[in-house]
Amino acid sequence: MKKLLPTSTAGSLPKPSWLAQPEKLWSPWKLSDQELVEGKQDALLLSLQEQQLAGIDIVSDGEQSRQHFVTTFIEHLSGVDFEKRETVKIRDRYDASVPTVVGAVARQKPVFVEDAKFLRQKTNQPIKWALPGPMTMIDTLYDNHYKSREKLAWEFAKILNQEARELEAAGVDIIQFDEPAFNVFFDEVNDWGIATLERAIEGLKCETAVHICYGYGIKANTDWKKTLGSEWRQYEEAFPKLQTSSIDLISLECHNSHVPMDLLELIRGKKVMVGAIDVATNTIETPEEVANTLRKALQFVDADKLYPCTNCGMAPLSRQVARGKLNALSAGAEIIRKELSA
Ligand SMILES: [Zn+2]
Repeated sequence: MKKLLPTSTAGSLPKPSWLAQPEKLWSPWKLSDQELVEGKQDALLLSLQEQQLAGIDIVSDGEQSRQHFVTTFIEHLSGVDFEKRETVKIRDRYDASVPTVVGAVARQKPVFVEDAKFLRQKTNQPIKWALPGPMTMIDTLYDNHYKSREKLAWEFAKILNQEARELEAAGVDIIQFDEPAFNVFFDEVNDWGIATLERAIEGLKCETAVHICYGYGIKANTDWKKTLGSEWRQYEEAFPKLQTSSIDLISLECHNSHVPMDLLELIRGKKVMVGAIDVATNTIETPEEVANTLRKALQFVDADKLYPCTNCGMAPLSRQVARGKLNALSAGAEIIRKELSA
């Protein structure tokens, strides 16, 4: 990107009410068959327009084509039985009924490639596409086949690489892997988490990103955050290995979080998507609040490597609030651009 401080969002944006119940995760589709195909495309266009009207520089599909950032990808794979469900604790935090791995996992056909081609046709702006990361995928399943988190993660890494190569060929500029699990399973992150992520990006020429956050603004997450104390140092665990990895961008939660900003020094040299919008509150940030967070980050991230972003996805927010937050992000980034060029 030639533009200084290019803005983007971490991932999902609210769905229109005619496609799925808004302000709800895992909300079922209200349409089916061909109507659903068209409905998702219409929602993608709306979501793209919302980003463009707000002046967002790197745009996405707003994740309009998926019900959930992890499960929708897994639904397209063989080896997973969605009828056979078990209750597991996701990210050591909350119980969820999840599908079971019953055989070798494989990708029989592309998952998001057609959607990415559709988005590519509709804009000349740089586009970013999100995929779940291997570790976050295994954490959203019950494994009755490999019986090893690591083995399953390597299998998913291979599958993600197949998808990522096709997304790149479809014209995606940045492929992002969502790894909120990196904030929880520190030993595994360092043993094989980052290695499997590197496997997922193997051979890619487009830019690659990893998004590590403290989750959507749902109750299980906000309750968990209350237990983390006044300083959140979780990023410290994965940062040294990420700094030496071949991932280009690291997307982080920085606004209203208790992450000490100086931790960013540990990934000096990487491009950083600095979360400057809190997705766990309906309060819309002022441009000055956004600018403040970016200013703090600039102490540890070189200006040409700073990408203003949201803390996480905004699917659980109302469209009106999400729109306000997108505008605030743009306006806050513009304040800093002016300061830097003064
Ligand atoms: Zn997130």
